[in-house]
Amino acid sequence: MKCVAYVSPMVPPEWITAHGLAPSWQQLRTVRRDRDGGTVRGVCPYAAAVLATATAESGAAALVLTTTCDQMRYAAAMVERGRSLPVFLMHVPATWQTSAARQLYRDELLRLGRFLVQIGGAVPGAETLARVARRYEAVRRQVVERRAVLGAREFALAVAEVRGFIDEGGTNVRAAITPARNISIPTRIASEGPSLALRVSIGRLSCRNNKSGNESPRSKVRSPACSETAQTPSAGIPLALLGGPLLADDHGILDTIESLGGRIVLDATESGERTLPGPLDEARLAQDPLDALVDAYFGSIPDVFRRPNTAMYDWLGRELPSRGVRGIVFRRYLWCDLWHAELQSLREASPVPVLDLDAAGDEQSSANRTLARLEAFLEMLSGASSLGKRPSSIRREDDGAAGGCRDDACLLRFDHRP
Ligand code: SF4
Repeated sequence: MKCVAYVSPMVPPEWITAHGLAPSWQQLRTVRRDRDGGTVRGVCPYAAAVLATATAESGAAALVLTTTCDQMRYAAAMVERGRSLPVFLMHVPATWQTSAARQLYRDELLRLGRFLVQIGGAVPGAETLARVARRYEAVRRQVVERRAVLGAREFALAVAEVRGFIDEGGTNVRAAITPARNISIPTRIASEGPSLALRVSIGRLSCRNNKSGNESPRSKVRSPACSETAQTPSAGIPLALLGGPLLADDHGILDTIESLGGRIVLDATESGERTLPGPLDEARLAQDPLDALVDAYFGSIPDVFRRPNTAMYDWLGRELPSRGVRGIVFRRYLWCDLWHAELQSLREASPVPVLDLDAAGDEQSSANRTLARLEAFLEMLSGASSLGKRPSSIRREDDGAAGGCRDDACLLRFDHRP
């Protein structure tokens, strides 16, 4: 089966599968100066990873990108110019409140369909599309239901699995979400990269067909590089992780947070549960399955690029209290204007403290800086908890503050509203 690589949650994998092709959600690797010849200054690390890995050797028949940010448009233009791989740039309107915007998204899906047929796919009938869509939704629901018993890394990898190819019975993903008895927590910092087992499945734009018996997320977590520390997912200070997509190397931050006494109960990154599609409307699915997909994706996914992006704040307003979140780790890539511009609004709107983490890709000092900031953040949150109230200010070490907040923690800001 030919494989179609993609990196945007606004592309429905059901649509690709219904065309008889295998969607492949990419877990890209950080571009490093020493190994990959350097990043381009001004290009966000995620877009740089797309550029570095979109090669003819990838095994993919095509790459689908979206217009959700300027960096992705740039990446699409560069891949097209290099002719390394057929690339389809799908226009996703930032506005969403008009029927014209919705119609444009639907038309773009139809245009994508014609492209898929050109590269070897088949036009799907309505019944086929509805059947595939139901299959994906059933498996997605199972993954979300298992969230509470999976570690943060396991859940992130399971979410990545449901964005890929799902076979007839959905068995390939179901096998991957059986809860592990022990959660493996690497004691190393995230910069050391993914576990040994994970490294074999990433590193270039890969095209995996899950029918061939690839590793489950659980097996990836259980690597020789990980210690078998026993920690249940229910332990630790509940946090949300918000921001752009995680690169495969970035999953270490989830382990790092857990090893420092935190727990990601809400993965609101672009690659996390925030961007899973909404529930399918069964009546609409029976009547017009493509329309049902438009509603589930274009009509439901709250993201930073949308104008207005109030749906993202509405979603956070529901999910933060319902998960008992006590702090937000806001992780943005250097040179990502979209997320950087959102920081101030988030701080003003958030009912809990926000830690701003900028990720610079291959910058050497990045890992230690991240660790220091996370330590200070969690130390502050646990201190607030032991005092039985939230702190009203952050004092620097030289102010003689108990607990010794680092300079990094002064990036935090608190909401004093009742
Ligand atoms: S992280 Fe930001 S700049 Fe990079 S691809 Fe995503 S939205 Fe675009």
